[in-house]
Amino acid sequence: MMKAFKYRLYPTCKQADALQFTLDRNRELYNAALEERREAWRMSRVNVTYAMQSAQLPEIKEIRPEYKEIYSQILQDTLKRVDKAFKAFFKRCKEDKTPGYPRFQGYDRYDSFTYPQIEKLKGKPTITIEEKKVVLPKIGQIKVKKQRDLEGKAKTATIKREGDRWYLIITCEVEARVKLPYTDLPIGIDMGLKHFMTDSHGDVVDNPRFFRKSHGRLKKLQQRLAKKKKRSNRRKKAVKSVANAHKKVRNQRKDFHHKESRILVDTFETIIFEDLSLHHMVRRPKAKQDENGKYLHNGAAAKGGLNKSILDAGWASFIELVKHKAAWAGVTVIEVDPKKTSQICSACHKEGEHKDLSVRTHLCTYCGVVLDRDHNAAVNIRDRGLGRSLREPASSGTFQEALA
Ligand SMILES: [Zn+2]
Repeated sequence: MMKAFKYRLYPTCKQADALQFTLDRNRELYNAALEERREAWRMSRVNVTYAMQSAQLPEIKEIRPEYKEIYSQILQDTLKRVDKAFKAFFKRCKEDKTPGYPRFQGYDRYDSFTYPQIEKLKGKPTITIEEKKVVLPKIGQIKVKKQRDLEGKAKTATIKREGDRWYLIITCEVEARVKLPYTDLPIGIDMGLKHFMTDSHGDVVDNPRFFRKSHGRLKKLQQRLAKKKKRSNRRKKAVKSVANAHKKVRNQRKDFHHKESRILVDTFETIIFEDLSLHHMVRRPKAKQDENGKYLHNGAAAKGGLNKSILDAGWASFIELVKHKAAWAGVTVIEVDPKKTSQICSACHKEGEHKDLSVRTHLCTYCGVVLDRDHNAAVNIRDRGLGRSLREPASSGTFQEALA
C-alpha cells in the first residue's frame, strides 16, 4: 500500500529560485513533448512513445545546457507524465467517451516535479530526508518541517508549489495495518435526514448543531453580499467573509466525518452501508403526465429540497472516508441495495406497507415488533450485507395471531 506524507519546505530565496527554475524547465519540457506528439499524430498518424522521447534527452542537454542542471530522473518523470496523459486520452477514445485532448500546461497548472526513485539500485538514496532538512541533488539542502515521521519505505519524492509555498511529498510503501477490532461484530448503518446515522444496535449519531448555526451565518453573509455595490471595497470584503464562512462549514464537516469514521473503523470488523447510488431519495424524480400529456405536480420541488439536504449531509464523502480508513485497518465495508429496507420488518422479515418519511416508528403488523424506523432499516442493511435473505421469515404467524 502507498501512503503519502506532505511536509512544508522553507527554501531560502535562492533555493526557491532553483525550485522554480526546475519547475519551469519541466513545464517547458512537458509542453514540448506534448507538441511533438500532437504534430506527429496530426501530420502522419505516428504515435510517439515515451522511449522515443526520453532517448532525445541527451541531445536536448547539448542544445540547452541549462537542462544539465536538472536531475535526469525528474526529466524522465515529466516525459512519463505526458505518456500517461496520452494513454488516458487513447483509452477514452477507445471507450467512445469525450476524449479531451491532453492540454498544454500554464504556470499555474504545472506545479510539481518528481524524483521517481528515492532508493537507487545500489542502495544509495537520491535524496536524503533528515530531521530538519532534505537534501535534493543539484539543488542543495532545504529546511523542512516534519509534523509526523515517515512510515515504511520511501519510494518517490515530489516537490510541489502551492501559491508561494513549497511542499515535499514523499510516498512510502507501507504494509496494511492489521488491527484487532474492538469487537468482531458487523454493523449496519442507515444514513438519514433526521439523524446523521443510526446503526443496527440502535445507536444514533446526530448532525452536530454547529452545522445549522454556521449555515445560518453563511446565509446571512450571502444576503449581505447581494446588497453590496459591484466593484466596491465593501463588496470585496463581503466576498471574503462568505468564502471564509464556506471554508468553516467545510472544515467542521470534515472534522466531524473524520471523528465518526474513526470510531466506526476502530470498533467494527464489517461495516455495511446503503449503496447511495441506488438510493431513491438521491435519484431525480420522474416527470408525471396526465392522460392529456400535461405535466402533473410530482413533488419534484419538495424532493429537490430533500435532495439538496441529502447531498449537504455529505453521506457520500463520509462513506468514502470510512472506506479509506477501513482499507488501512483491514476492515470490510459492504454497500447494499437499500430497496425496501424501511418496509421490511427486521424481526420477522415480512414486508409491510410503504412508510412516509414522517412515520418515525416501525410497528410490525405481523410479529408486533416496535422499533425506531431508522434502527429497523439499519438492521435490514446489516443483514442484507451479511447475505441473509430479508424475505425468509424468522417465524410464522401474524401479529394478531400472536396477540390472540
Ligand atoms: Zn415483523
